[in-house]
Amino acid sequence: MTKHSNQHLSRVPFLDLGAIYREMQTALEEAVTRVLKSGQYINGHEVEAFEEAYSAYTGARYCIGVGNGLDALHLTLRAWDIGYGDEVIVPSNTYIATWLAVTHSGAIPVPVEPNPLTHNIDPELLGTALTPKTRAIIAVHLYGQPADLTPICAFAKNHGLKVLHDGAQAHGARYKTKPLNAYGDAVAWSFYPGKNLGAFGDAGAVTTDNPELAERLRRLRNYGSSTKYVNEEIGFNSRLDPLQAALLRAKLAHLDQWTKKRQAIASRYLSALSATSLQLPYVPVWADPVWHLFVVRARNRDELQERLRAAGIETLIHYPIPPHRQQAYRHQFGDTRLPIAEQLSQQVLSIPLYPQLTEDQINHVLTSLIASA
Ligand SMILES: *Cc1c(COP(=O)(O)O)cnc(C)c1O
Repeated sequence: MTKHSNQHLSRVPFLDLGAIYREMQTALEEAVTRVLKSGQYINGHEVEAFEEAYSAYTGARYCIGVGNGLDALHLTLRAWDIGYGDEVIVPSNTYIATWLAVTHSGAIPVPVEPNPLTHNIDPELLGTALTPKTRAIIAVHLYGQPADLTPICAFAKNHGLKVLHDGAQAHGARYKTKPLNAYGDAVAWSFYPGKNLGAFGDAGAVTTDNPELAERLRRLRNYGSSTKYVNEEIGFNSRLDPLQAALLRAKLAHLDQWTKKRQAIASRYLSALSATSLQLPYVPVWADPVWHLFVVRARNRDELQERLRAAGIETLIHYPIPPHRQQAYRHQFGDTRLPIAEQLSQQVLSIPLYPQLTEDQINHVLTSLIASA
């Protein structure tokens, strides 16, 4: 009996979104009720209020809510008139959405390998991907670890390229003490439920200091129209849902406190696991990561994952197949070899890390990892 309940206590799901709902049930239900009573179910006050709150949070002048993170990336490329005949530099080690945004714009994604320590795009290799067709670089801040922005932005400036951040995993992350919007041209955000700032469905946004980009994005997300029934260009329907906007604004008030918890758990993981054979996340001096994921590298990754599963600990792999090896891209990248991304996909393992982890769960993760690695 005791043994049984102990086992129950020490189960560690990869993520527990229900726990966030229970933690702030009243505020969330109040937000939903407010929207339902408002009679305004597309655009309007709630969307504007979130946009204002999130631009203040990110330090950007403008925030444009959109339907999801993929659209945030894709519509920004469109807004810059990037498309057929153009190339966009992307990391080889990323979620496929980064690449799909480029493909949807009509341009070609050109992959650059990561630095094997940081897992983020290696600025030293940008020159190898540059051609006269290159228009932009998408800097992904994978796992919530900022990419090395100074050399990326310097390279972009030298070659007249835009810098678009994929901030989907990096809400609140800082590079050299400044928020992501202090660098480059625009940041695309996803509020997919499992992200550090997650909605209760799909949602996304772009933040930027550029007024022309902001205005174009507002049009593109709304049928290419800034005045009802007047369509200035071929647009899309990708608006931030007022229900999600209201829920996100309620959650935004907690984000910094949740990030601090993530950072505290990450420090414990880093010091407790330093004597194991695992390759731990590397945090450069200029980085203030927000720990969307805690990703370790292990040669015997599959075996380790199995042992953790047996101990009741759920882990995930981000990502098991790099974009260039996906069936979807076989026509374009079937012969492409990207050895660093390929090796990472064989060795990475994401360990549960989220603000609602209990002390018992954290200890169980550490004990099991130390015993298995
Ligand atoms: C989640 C994610 C996206 C896509 O966001 P959606 O809101 O699911 O469209 C893009 N890039 C990265 C790195 C992501 O993790």
